[in-house]
Amino acid sequence: MNIAKVVVDVPASQTNRIFDYKIPENFQGSVKKGMRVIVPFGPRKIMGFVLELTNHSDFDRLRFIDDLMDVTPVLTEELINLGKWLSEETLSYYISAFQVMLPQVLKAKYKKELQRLTEEELPEILEIIFANRDVIPYEEFVSRDGSFYHLQKAIDQGLIEVSYQVHSRETFKKETMIAPNRESFLLDEELANLPKQAIKQAEILSYFIEHPQAILQKELLSLLDTSRSSLKVLLERKLLREYKEEVYRNPYKEDKYPKTTPLQLTEQQENSIKPILSTIEKKSHQVFLLHGVTGSGKTEVYLQSIQEVIKKGKEAIVLVPEIALTPQMVERFKGRFGSEVAVLHSALSAGEKFDEWRKIQRKQVKVVVGARSAIFAPLENIGIIIIDEEHETSYKQEDHPRYHARDVAIFRGEQHNCPVVLGSATPALESFARAQKGVYQLLTISKRMNNAVMPKVKLVDMREELHAGNRTMFSRQLMKDIEERLKRKEQMVLFLNRRGYSTFVMCRDCGHVIECPHCDITLTYHRSKNSLKCHYCGHEDDMPTKCPSCESDTIRFFGTGTQKVEEALNKLMPEARVIRMDVDTTTRKGSHEKLLNQFANHEADILLGTQMIAKGLDFPNVTLVGVLAADALLNLPDFRAAEKTFQLLTQVSGRAGRHLLPGEVVVQTYTPEHYSVQLASEYDYDSFFQKEMEIRKTFQYPPYFFLTLITVSHPNQVKVIEVTKTITKLLNKHLSSQTRILGPTPSALTRIKDRYRYQCMIKYKNEPNQRKVIKKVLSFYQKEIQKNDLLISVDLQPYQLM
Ligand code: ADP
Ligand code: ZN
Ligand code: ZN
Repeated sequence: MNIAKVVVDVPASQTNRIFDYKIPENFQGSVKKGMRVIVPFGPRKIMGFVLELTNHSDFDRLRFIDDLMDVTPVLTEELINLGKWLSEETLSYYISAFQVMLPQVLKAKYKKELQRLTEEELPEILEIIFANRDVIPYEEFVSRDGSFYHLQKAIDQGLIEVSYQVHSRETFKKETMIAPNRESFLLDEELANLPKQAIKQAEILSYFIEHPQAILQKELLSLLDTSRSSLKVLLERKLLREYKEEVYRNPYKEDKYPKTTPLQLTEQQENSIKPILSTIEKKSHQVFLLHGVTGSGKTEVYLQSIQEVIKKGKEAIVLVPEIALTPQMVERFKGRFGSEVAVLHSALSAGEKFDEWRKIQRKQVKVVVGARSAIFAPLENIGIIIIDEEHETSYKQEDHPRYHARDVAIFRGEQHNCPVVLGSATPALESFARAQKGVYQLLTISKRMNNAVMPKVKLVDMREELHAGNRTMFSRQLMKDIEERLKRKEQMVLFLNRRGYSTFVMCRDCGHVIECPHCDITLTYHRSKNSLKCHYCGHEDDMPTKCPSCESDTIRFFGTGTQKVEEALNKLMPEARVIRMDVDTTTRKGSHEKLLNQFANHEADILLGTQMIAKGLDFPNVTLVGVLAADALLNLPDFRAAEKTFQLLTQVSGRAGRHLLPGEVVVQTYTPEHYSVQLASEYDYDSFFQKEMEIRKTFQYPPYFFLTLITVSHPNQVKVIEVTKTITKLLNKHLSSQTRILGPTPSALTRIKDRYRYQCMIKYKNEPNQRKVIKKVLSFYQKEIQKNDLLISVDLQPYQLM
């Protein structure tokens, strides 16, 4: 095989194909499918993935592969196929599909350099910058205000060349190991001959006489409480030797996790696990929907299924939503399977993530627990794939490639002939509908552990509070319940949905609201810096002292952020100790864990937070959950608003009364009569499902219809409207007559980062040609996309409609 078929790192539609390269003599036999290589491409050197090896090419003049970036392939055969499928499925470039499967550090980095080609004299201004060097970084040229005119001229004259260097970002952490370099009896002799005052040296030698194995230098030094200088003498005398060994950056120290053993399953758990185990036994593929109320012991079903898979010599993937990937969750898997577990979590550093990934690649682990992208773990013998909280929208990637982890899981499950288990207390409507049709097999756990009852939910009508003269964000009911808990020394969780409730700044005189100058959205007030920030583009302004519109000085911030709730709580109940958990207090690594530990140790009475506290947390002493504003989600312009509200309320309520103490929930809302609020308070998923399905049917939404969202953006509004109109027309012409095409309409966020956004929506039941037609539309606009700053994004089965 002397030809490699390569996908190159240029995400554009003309390059979205396979290029043939010759393999130079010295690499023949070493190049394998799934490796990253460096190839010449135009004037540049870029990274590419080898997808196939062959002896034949339809092209005559092939260029040579320049270099290999890997010693062993980073993509397995299965992942190569998965990548091809993924790019077709989501209409994204091959290169994006392959890159999304790999850890960030394996993405190539390109360094632009200026290289001097001859000894001939350069213009003086360039000679100064080059300062006798042959190669300088391009950034240096820019930072020193190099003259582009002279540079271009020098390039035209062949004096200088712009070259691109491909760099890999992988780093391996190495540590110094110390080991004895002589046999024990020889060390014994040396010990006897040491001068009396060499006490530390004697201790070190004695240690190695007793433990003749290698040890980490830092461990040795701390063990014997000594310094490198005593060690150095022994190394110089060649009694000991040192070497570097690669170690993993392991953020999860195994000894932290007490070992757990399988629990005796309840009857309902038993009934749920049986079909899963029998599918494992039969080596067949089946998708299960495990519908179990919160606290019903779904995780134990996962754990015991995985155990069976490991017993058969196979591997498991467990997906957990990012925000539910708490230390508590990790502990449950590490506690059962110890060092056989790799954890892929976005809070890890890039290096740590890479190390976890390499453990998987080297087959040193059996279980991968992680957020969305862990679905691409390079396991080769998968025996089960589990998706916990399968309804979570964070399983959908909102960037190219726009994939849903559930679809990828099912694709891989088919390849590996293994079960896929989707678990949730509130399954996505799509999933439950599929289970009802028999596409997925439904497994149900309706009872909580220890027959604990679901906490009672009290709905509080906030309109009545207002009528009664209560203008605070805490209803009288909630205040009373909080005070009771404080007296009884029990703990509480207060939940605020941040979205739609961030603090905005408004003038009380004229009503002027301060908006981002680049986006159609209000700026958010940040108390810590006394500044205003755009959450879409990052634009930051000082908090004004006067209204920019009427110059009145009654400009104030409004709305309810977690900071504000915390302040109000401190004022109303100074004795209550509050821990606030939101994006602002958890940005630093480890802060999330630290806050939760404080709460677990009862260093606070109230845990106040956003979405991130809604899931997975399990504190025995929590007996009250308060939802401050249940309507926040309900009012989003999204057909899934009711579903999301139902899911969130159910999840949040599930945090209370999970153990011996009974729990209570207070839900504050302005629309207590809304069916999703009502039915969530009664934990009635089935009725909610029926009601919501009727509505979806009437309005022709998923799961009855499929959706595709096409969003067009450009700095010029007229241009955007014109393009979106044309696209709508083209789709109407080429798609079947039953399919409905809506648009063009302005997106809910019509302007982001100075770009206007319009969209059209395809609603269809069956449209086999859809991808082909959209591809045609995209290639029709290819030139403008490249040259004219036009962006067209296609989202098949969108979850975000803004
Ligand atoms: P879910 O994942 O459905 O929300 P969990 O798996 O967190 O529920 O289970 C709730 C609690 O019940 C946990 O503390 C768990 O250890 C415990 N548990 C689960 N299964 C059993 C069992 N068979 N016997 C006793 N306790 C169990
Ligand atoms: Zn902005
Ligand atoms: Zn004003």
